[in-house]
Amino acid sequence: MAHILAMPAPIAPVIDPFGRAITYVRISVTDRCDLRCVYCMAEEMHFLPKKDVLTLEELDRIAAAFIRLGTRKIRLTGGEPLVRRDVMRLIERLGARIGDGAGQGLEELTLTTNGTQLARFAPGLRAAGMRRINVSLDTLDPAMFTLLTRWGKIEPTLEGIFAAKAAGLAVKINAVAMKGVNEDEFDGLIEWCGAHGFDLCLIETMPMGEIGEDRTEQYLPLSLVRSRLRRRWTLDETDYRTGGPARYFTVRETGRHLGFITPMTHNFCESCNRVRLTCTGTLFMCLGQDDQADLRAVLRAGTDDAGLDAAIREAIARKPKGHDFIIDRRHDRPAVGRHMSTTGG
Ligand code: SAM
Ligand code: SF4
Repeated sequence: MAHILAMPAPIAPVIDPFGRAITYVRISVTDRCDLRCVYCMAEEMHFLPKKDVLTLEELDRIAAAFIRLGTRKIRLTGGEPLVRRDVMRLIERLGARIGDGAGQGLEELTLTTNGTQLARFAPGLRAAGMRRINVSLDTLDPAMFTLLTRWGKIEPTLEGIFAAKAAGLAVKINAVAMKGVNEDEFDGLIEWCGAHGFDLCLIETMPMGEIGEDRTEQYLPLSLVRSRLRRRWTLDETDYRTGGPARYFTVRETGRHLGFITPMTHNFCESCNRVRLTCTGTLFMCLGQDDQADLRAVLRAGTDDAGLDAAIREAIARKPKGHDFIIDRRHDRPAVGRHMSTTGG
C-alpha cells in the first residue's frame, strides 16, 4: 500500500486590509554607516545609543515571528548592515531558516550594502545561504563617488563587488538618479554592468529626512531617463520580478536586466507586499507614511511568541493603502521626517 507522506501545509501569509499578502520584510540592522551619501544622511549624524538598538537575538526573534506568519523574503539593510558588529551571527541564524521550497520557511535571504566591507564578507554570505545581493553604486567616477559619499573611496566598493561575484553571488547594482550629478553616467553603468554580468536598477530620489541640502534640485524623473536611454539601448519589456517594487526591462545589447524604481512618478503601492523593521524594533508598514508599531516594547515586556505574532498581525492590519511622497516645495521639507538610513530604503 502506498504511503501518503504527511506534508505540512504551506504557511498562509498574513493579508493586509487591502488584500495584499505580506511576504517580504526589510530589516535594518543598524543606523550606522561608514559613508554619508548626500541624499541619505546629513554630514553630522547622531547615531542611536546601543541600548535602543535591538540585539542580534532580538532581531532574530522578530524575523522568526515573521517567518511563522508567512514571510518568504528577508532583506537586511541599514545604515550599512555589514558594519554591525557580529552581523554574520545573525546572517547565519537567518540563513538556517531558509526553507525547503515547499512553502515552509524562508525562501530568500538577501542584503543591500554599500559594498565597502564586502570583500571580507562575501564568501560567508554565500555560505550562509545568500544567492544574490544589491550593492549601491551611483557612479563609476572615483571623484564623483567621493563627492556623493562625502568621504568614501570607490576602490573598496569595487573590490567588494568583484569579491561577491567571485563568491558566486548574483549582484544587482542600485544607483540613485540625480539631476545634474550622475545623469550622464547611466550609459556607462549599463555598459559596465553588461560587461561584468550585473543587473542594474535606477532609483528616483525620495524626500526622506533632513540632509542639509535642497532636494527638489536633485529630483530626476526616471521616465525622462528611460526615454533618453532608448536612444542608445533597446529596452525590451519583461515580466521579470524580484519581489520588490522595480519594473524591469531587458537591455537587448547586454542581455542584463535594467530596473526602474519610481516612487515619485509611479504609484507602486497596489502591489506592495512588504513592511520594514528598523534597528530599534519599530515596524513601519509603509516607507512613505508614519504608521508604526513598537515591537521592541513588545519584546522587552517579556511577551511570548504568541503575543509577538499577535502584535505583528495587529500592525499589518493597519497597513495604509499607499504613500504620499510630495515634496513640500514651499518649505522644502521632506515628506517623511526620518532618514532613509532609519528604514533602510
Ligand atoms: N548602506 C546600504 C546601501 O547604501 O546600500 C543600505 C542602506 S541604504 C539606505 C539603501 C538604499 O537606499 C541605497 O541603495 C541608497 O542609495 C538608497 N537611498 C538612500 N537614501 C535615498 C533617498 N533619499 N532616495 C532614494 N534612495 C535612497
Ligand atoms: Fe550609508 Fe547606504 Fe545611506 Fe549611503 S545610502 S549613507 S551607504 S546607509
